[in-house]
Amino acid sequence: MSEVKVVNLTKKFGRFTALDGIDFSFPAGKVTCLLGPSGCGKTTLLRIISGLETPTEGKVFFGDKDVTGLPPRKRNIGMVFQYPVVYRGISVRKNIELPLLKRGLSETERRERVDRVLSLMNLKDYAELDSSQLDNVARQKVSVARAVAYQPDIILFDEPMTNIDANSKIQFKHAFKELTRQLNQVIVYVTHDQTEAMTLADQIALMKDGKIVQCNDPRTLYNVPEDVFGGWFLGNPGMNFVKERCEKKGSTYIIVSRLLKRPLKIDAPKMDAEVTLGIRPEHIWLSDVPGSDAVEAMVKDKTLTIGGQYLYTLEVGGEKIKVKVGHHFGRAIGNTKVWVELPLRHLVIFDGSERRIHGDLSLQ
Ligand code: ATP
Repeated sequence: MSEVKVVNLTKKFGRFTALDGIDFSFPAGKVTCLLGPSGCGKTTLLRIISGLETPTEGKVFFGDKDVTGLPPRKRNIGMVFQYPVVYRGISVRKNIELPLLKRGLSETERRERVDRVLSLMNLKDYAELDSSQLDNVARQKVSVARAVAYQPDIILFDEPMTNIDANSKIQFKHAFKELTRQLNQVIVYVTHDQTEAMTLADQIALMKDGKIVQCNDPRTLYNVPEDVFGGWFLGNPGMNFVKERCEKKGSTYIIVSRLLKRPLKIDAPKMDAEVTLGIRPEHIWLSDVPGSDAVEAMVKDKTLTIGGQYLYTLEVGGEKIKVKVGHHFGRAIGNTKVWVELPLRHLVIFDGSERRIHGDLSLQ
């Protein structure tokens, strides 16, 4: 099967619209993460694909086959949930083998499939252990192994790392990556955790208010958000946004920004009178000496982040911005002067509807 496709998918709970006319394809052989804040509709979309929920409108296709009216057991899907599903009192091997027995596979085929997934999930040493002896991460790995051994057309993961402790998450992520590299199925992974999505996905479908607002590989999604929401939701903290006026001068548009030393020229077919400049905190250059294209800023706050970087809050032309740097300025605490420069290649301009403007940027 080459893809799973949803067409004009809408789900209403009473008067509330949880999914709002989604058209989207999930390609085979790739991990697609559905990422978005709580309540944006990720789980509802996953449940409709699995057949656990019926759409109010729209259709679901597995390849060319319309499966919209089919119950889950007729869809050939594998699912992994937040809580590992393992049967206690039987071995890991038996846990994985159970669905294959129900399917009537021969003993040789069962053994081959189970051995393969035990190896893929690095569970060989656990094969004969009683599953009640396992810790949370190993139990979740068994759930994944069972779903994979069944060889479904599509494997759905619903926040599978929620109940795994922070240290073991690295181990699970590693196993997941190794595994999915070898699979040719459609893999859909729901999470609200951007780090998880960034590390595991081949492509991320970013959701907001029942819609998929952007789908790209993680790097593109992070660097080039198509709207203000993507810039805000991704990153820790998200993008800085500054609203500025935009004026037409001849055939181009000019933005005079408090964050830029020189006026910004943008070649775009049409611009709104008010636009938003967006830039990520780690993309701003910070210095304690003036530079030719740098503007003066005041340090208002400085904190050390978990990754060992420093997060500065600066005031520039009456605006507060965040800047993240790998080193700190010894004397730059309190109301100390610093200089900031915004590299054009990292600057994103959004229109009055908060959508990204596609156009060439240069300084006058
Ligand atoms: P979370 O990460 O919190 O689970 P989500 O993005 O997965 O969020 P969904 O669980 O899909 O969001 O829910 C989307 C919206 O639909 C939410 O506002 C939720 O309250 C609502 N919703 C989901 N299921 C039902 C239901 N059975 N009845 C009424 N409303 C529902």
